[in-house]
Amino acid sequence: MTTAIEETLVLVKPDGVARNLSGEILRRIEAKGYSLVDIRLVQADRELLAKHYAEHEGKPFYEPLIEFMQSGPTVAIRVAGNRVIEGFRVLAGTTDPTTAAPGTIRGDFGRDWGLRVQQNLVHGSDSAESAERELGLWFS
Ligand code: GDP
Ligand code: MG
Repeated sequence: MTTAIEETLVLVKPDGVARNLSGEILRRIEAKGYSLVDIRLVQADRELLAKHYAEHEGKPFYEPLIEFMQSGPTVAIRVAGNRVIEGFRVLAGTTDPTTAAPGTIRGDFGRDWGLRVQQNLVHGSDSAESAERELGLWFS
């Protein structure tokens, strides 16, 4: 175990905002001991989302994902804490909400609409490089 105070980008995706789960998700982040550094409600446009999800361009779920992410506001949160990048992804659970562990955000609340995008409620940066890049996009 190491000490590494990091910052990560957490998004409460439009499904989470629409289902009034933003507070529950913030509660879990705070209960874990992480700090909220900045927060904003963003209506994401295609340009922002194309940059955010550039790694997924061309995949079958890409277009539905970009559409879904424009379907309503997203809560963008700058979260700080020791090893928070990895730690938040554990809180979130694995990508597929069907198999995400109970006790995780996606395992407890996420829904899988099959061919449509997985409405898995949250995004968390997956590395220090991603966090820096994504925080720059959402908090420029
Ligand atoms: P994450 O880092 O756990 O969010 O997962 P990825 O970066 O791999 O994918 C980004 C987002 O695209 C996910 O959170 C899902 O909303 C969606 N997604 C990823 N893989 C699939 C898939 O195989 N099918 C569908 N329908 N959506 C997916
Ligand atoms: Mg990802």
